[in-house]
Amino acid sequence: MVLLRDPEDPKVFWVKRARTLSFMARYHAFPGGQRDAADAEIPIENVPPSPDAMTAVMRVAAIREIFEETGVLIARGAERLSAERRLELRLELAADRISFQELLANESLTLDAGLLTEMPRWVTPATMPRRYDTRFYAAWLPAGQETEIIPGELEEGEWLRPHEALQRWIDGDSLIVTPITCALQALAEGAHDFAARMLCVPEEEREHWESRVEMRYGIYLCALRTPTIPPATHTNCYIIGGDEMVVIDPGSPYPDQREKLDAVIERFIAQGRRIREIIITHLHPDHIGGVMHLAEKFNVPVAAHRLTAEAIGIQAGGEVRVDRFIEDNEVIELNEQVTGLSWRLRALWTPGHARGHLSFHEERTGSLITGDCVVGFGTVVIAPPEGNMIAYLASLRRYLELPRLTALMPGHGPVLADARGKIEEYLAHRQAREEMIVNAMSAGAQTAPQIVKAVYTDVPDAMHSLAELSVVAALEKLETEGRVARNGNQFALVV
Ligand SMILES: [Zn+2]
Repeated sequence: MVLLRDPEDPKVFWVKRARTLSFMARYHAFPGGQRDAADAEIPIENVPPSPDAMTAVMRVAAIREIFEETGVLIARGAERLSAERRLELRLELAADRISFQELLANESLTLDAGLLTEMPRWVTPATMPRRYDTRFYAAWLPAGQETEIIPGELEEGEWLRPHEALQRWIDGDSLIVTPITCALQALAEGAHDFAARMLCVPEEEREHWESRVEMRYGIYLCALRTPTIPPATHTNCYIIGGDEMVVIDPGSPYPDQREKLDAVIERFIAQGRRIREIIITHLHPDHIGGVMHLAEKFNVPVAAHRLTAEAIGIQAGGEVRVDRFIEDNEVIELNEQVTGLSWRLRALWTPGHARGHLSFHEERTGSLITGDCVVGFGTVVIAPPEGNMIAYLASLRRYLELPRLTALMPGHGPVLADARGKIEEYLAHRQAREEMIVNAMSAGAQTAPQIVKAVYTDVPDAMHSLAELSVVAALEKLETEGRVARNGNQFALVV
């Protein structure tokens, strides 16, 4: 629900999702929630005629959710209730002492669909781990009411002018998803008919938005299906910049996915932009599968770390023509004349998952392109000899030293707003696994498969061969530190 206030100087209400949520933690969003089965029982007047069976019930759900989340009661008759009474009712509803239907009946309130304005409906792209079919509505804040967030699923709420919200997004101070960005852009051009204008956007344009999600201004994510490691099914390709852009990890070898990316890039070129370079984070097939196709189709040079080029470069007998080496700490600057904005991508050599692994820190917005160092769901496989646990942990710690860190943009899975929290979680996870490995060895496990059986009880058997690689990586670390001695395939604790 897009809540608006002050028609002469319109402001919009957005909320920040809590750190503890498993999906879109710390993103900014509009308040709302999911339909309840009981919403279908609640009468609502003035529902516009529609063949869509959900037309009425979704409006009821929106009104109920907005009351639960913000305390704003959008109903005819609500003006008779004092602020204290509304809060009392909200708390009773939250405690399940009363249903929304009973509350409306007891207080003689009538729901009126005429108080809501319909906006476009969005479905989460198929590449996301969790998907929602979302209806958006707008409503003006009823006179005499205020919003109040009770901390829990939401950290905070704030009223601001639409262009101020967009500026925060441009500056890297907030992460939002495309439907919210589009709504804010339409609101910034005029709040009184923005919904109608949004509904006029052709389906084709909507599909285009979905094919490349603009995570931050000038930072586009195009998730492409690749032969990768479950639970991931896609590799994130990032396209970054203004007048000149770079393409990071066009990883798909599949013709339909290459076509999808080609179309996205053709549109950028049609806007007068130029693709400066294709950049590879690391050598794995799911990150390089589309590199040469793109390089040849658009006549664009390819850049990677020297160690990556030595593994996959044509000069070294590989398949990828690497034209340029990227050094640690090199800054790639991309500008946009019309806005005066720039993107400064600082290359960070972050070995551990792969020897020549590069990450990129966009310094203006604090966005970190992590490649496979951190991923959006699950953890990363550290597979020796390419993988090295000591180097990997050092790379994660290097991330924590970055001066500004507002989002992790991983090679797989969703962009993460709780950047530091995620990195610390990764470090803690590796520490905990190492302790479990040492404990399993104290209890008699001597080989990597024995240790996997004892330690990876939370992982399906099909994943055990991958888990074994991570165990070997942990054992190699312990061996380097002098805490484990190796004899062939047998490992023993040094006491
Ligand atoms: Zn990888």
